[in-house]
Amino acid sequence: MTRVFTGSFTQQEPIPEAGIEAALAVLRHGRLHRYNLTDGEAGEVALLEEEFAAFTGAAYALAVASGGYAMGCALRAVGVGAGDRVLSNGFTLAPVPGAIASVGAEPVFVETTEALTIDLDDLAGKARDSGATVLLLSHMRGHVCDMDALMAYCDEVGIRVIEDCAHTMGGGWAGTPSGRHGLVACYSTQTYKHINSGEGGFLVSDDAEVMARAIILSGSYMLYPRHRARPPVEVFEKIKWVTPNISGRMDNLRAAILRPQLADLPRQVARWNALYRTVEEGLRNTPGLKVIERDPREDIVGSSIQFLLPDAGEARIANVVTGCKARGVELKWFGAEEPVAFTSRYDSWRYAAPQRLPKTDAILAGLMDMRLPLTFTPDDCRLIAEIIREEVMAA
Ligand SMILES: *Cc1c(COP(=O)(O)O)cnc(C)c1O
Repeated sequence: MTRVFTGSFTQQEPIPEAGIEAALAVLRHGRLHRYNLTDGEAGEVALLEEEFAAFTGAAYALAVASGGYAMGCALRAVGVGAGDRVLSNGFTLAPVPGAIASVGAEPVFVETTEALTIDLDDLAGKARDSGATVLLLSHMRGHVCDMDALMAYCDEVGIRVIEDCAHTMGGGWAGTPSGRHGLVACYSTQTYKHINSGEGGFLVSDDAEVMARAIILSGSYMLYPRHRARPPVEVFEKIKWVTPNISGRMDNLRAAILRPQLADLPRQVARWNALYRTVEEGLRNTPGLKVIERDPREDIVGSSIQFLLPDAGEARIANVVTGCKARGVELKWFGAEEPVAFTSRYDSWRYAAPQRLPKTDAILAGLMDMRLPLTFTPDDCRLIAEIIREEVMAA
């Protein structure tokens, strides 16, 4: 009998009761704006920032309106402007090149390895040819490159690194939390990421001047002393006259929802990884299917899983996708010519100068992607893996 999966790939868990209670308290007092505080009140956003700084180990943290806003803000805060070229991953999601475009800069895409991480040799070549001095590094789908090698290279040649940690919040590299290698790191708290406030994001940094600029940029007016995870006020003196306000603040309602989720994130990461390892085990040794082996130095957050069908070709991949879909398993294919839902490719971003990445093309041609929401159980994951395995073998 063919077995069918009936769960939803887009259903997240509910907001924890503590978050709902805290949100109701904010709604009842009505002070949703982060700077609308009574005497002696810190406010949910400032407390969340303090907790996020502690969670990552960063000196400073800023909560903002979205992950995409965080990246645009970080680029501005490090001085990227119109006409500048910014290195970034050829394999990433649309908000990453979008953030580069938002400051009038031009993305220079770098090739992808079979581990789905940035190709360090191609990075060196593209850096040399483009003269770019900033890398917006996307840990796409949670795959982290050799951060020791990457940082050694970037430090040597003077490339400043902004990390896109939308898929690595709670993860890390060799024991260092993700986002603590570069000059700035950006995170998202959008519904499909690791903590959920509908929309939202963070920046963290140890650099006082970069963070002071980011805080003013985010729309602090001259109320920045109310931040708690901020640089000393003297640092703002230098930059407050010359830094524009480009509002993208977080509000107290979202922060109230996020604080209990952040406290619970390590437990959630362990649950995600149990689901991930179950699917990975179930797919291993399937003829024609390549599991993406994770570097033991990666501290993963298995909120989604990817695998390769390297030699399948378009027709067979289409059969796998339809066969799985008919049995309730939603696979995304990064090789499709037309962008679908969240899945688009570097060659779909036609506002950027045309670029060719043959290595990335070859990998994306066989790359399958699947979400693992925490509403799934390990039994669900065993069934999902069994369905994929059967459909790949039948295709
Ligand atoms: C979701 C996402 C972002 C940006 O997040 P938003 O909060 O939706 O703006 C950035 N990078 C990657 C890789 C993402 O998946």
